[in-house]
Amino acid sequence: MIFVSFEPHVILLNNLNFRYMAKLYFYYSAMNAGKTTTLLQSSHNYEERGMSTVLLKPKTDDREATTEIVSRIGLSAKATIFFNTDDLYNLIIDISEKHEISCILVDEGQFLTKKQVNQLSDVVDYAAIPVLVYGIRTDFQGNLFEGSHQLLAIADELIEIKTICHCGRKATMVIRLGSDNRPMQTGAQIQVGGNETYISLCRKHWKKALTDNI
Ligand SMILES: [Zn+2]
Repeated sequence: MIFVSFEPHVILLNNLNFRYMAKLYFYYSAMNAGKTTTLLQSSHNYEERGMSTVLLKPKTDDREATTEIVSRIGLSAKATIFFNTDDLYNLIIDISEKHEISCILVDEGQFLTKKQVNQLSDVVDYAAIPVLVYGIRTDFQGNLFEGSHQLLAIADELIEIKTICHCGRKATMVIRLGSDNRPMQTGAQIQVGGNETYISLCRKHWKKALTDNI
């Protein structure tokens, strides 16, 4: 049996008629590491091979355009928006009954609930559709997001998308700057409609940014 790998997340069994080994993947990083760009590129790669993808995005902001995933470098694609009360297994099965799905890609995976991550794992295990989730690992206080917590716990593959701190080290942490441009120590984990800026730092500079502000 010959294994041909043409994407890090897809293993094609060469002589088994395009049958995929479905897995749940978590692509995680700090902020501004190009997660959405990577997601859109992966989707494009599938589509280019004649395989259809479904892009999902949690609804977090009433102001945003509701049906698009837009990357910072200007790529965009249509997405299905879901609420944190939606059953993602049922939602995906409903779509798959209308047309075949080769892959599910989920943006802003940190905002998934624990239950929804489990539902995505059901899509992998019972519908044999690969699910690629992209998200931030921790919030600006260094705490895991609910979705990321469960993804780190049960995903088949964990892939870090790397970005760097101003010092050149790998940036693994995030700070949130308030309207006064100073790092915030407290506040809601999910700031809906806020105008704060997020900066990715290495852990050492993240600690320094937080303590310098006290
Ligand atoms: Zn640093």
